[in-house]
Amino acid sequence: MYEVTVTGEFSSGHYLRNYVGKCENPHGHNYKVRVTLRGKELDPAGLLLDFKQLKLVMRPVIDYLDHNMINDLPPFTEINPSAENLARYFYDETSKQVAEMSGGRVTVKDCTIYETDTTTAMYFE
Ligand SMILES: [Zn+2]
Repeated sequence: MYEVTVTGEFSSGHYLRNYVGKCENPHGHNYKVRVTLRGKELDPAGLLLDFKQLKLVMRPVIDYLDHNMINDLPPFTEINPSAENLARYFYDETSKQVAEMSGGRVTVKDCTIYETDTTTAMYFE
């Protein structure tokens, strides 16, 4: 099995609803997101998926969140913009495109959100 990973960055505001503590107040993070792909077969060039292509898939998702208050953006008007929910959001938003791009040869293995260098949440299926 092969894996490739790309890490992206974005800076956004958020706050947590139904939560008592510091994070109930609006504040910002310099987030990192790591998307890892997996697959058994490489393409004729010897790549699982060109890093460039994975970056292209991640770009609109990152741009949607970057320099915004995440709580104002659907679906985070309804669900809390926790690191866990953001990880799942990246997973859902990138999975379909990666599968289409690779003809089903490559899938998203997992997505990790770094709220800080030492605190992360991962989503996978
Ligand atoms: Zn926070």
